[in-house]
Amino acid sequence: MERLTVFDYPQTAHARRHGPFGYQHYASYRDWLRDEFSFRCVYCLMRELWGQRLAAFHIDHLVPQAHDATKAADYDNLVYVCASCNAVKGGAPVPDHPPHAPAVSR
Ligand SMILES: [Zn+2]
Repeated sequence: MERLTVFDYPQTAHARRHGPFGYQHYASYRDWLRDEFSFRCVYCLMRELWGQRLAAFHIDHLVPQAHDATKAADYDNLVYVCASCNAVKGGAPVPDHPPHAPAVSR
């Protein structure tokens, strides 16, 4: 894994290490996502601290639920984010994550 600072943008797309499926609600993927993204916000890289896990970090949908409800509990559509970044992003799609991008093969 390459070491990044908050000023670096990864040269390659994140390749998912996990591929859980079958949960009915996206919140069930929280612990998978925490490990997937090294306990950091994918946008600002802030690391979670003990005791702040549920309040300070959220699960964000790359393709917002309002745009495609079928991806609401799709693991590949979920990322782990801090509350501040999630509040700023809101329901906007991620600019470099087109809604019909091909799935990452494992
Ligand atoms: Zn953040």
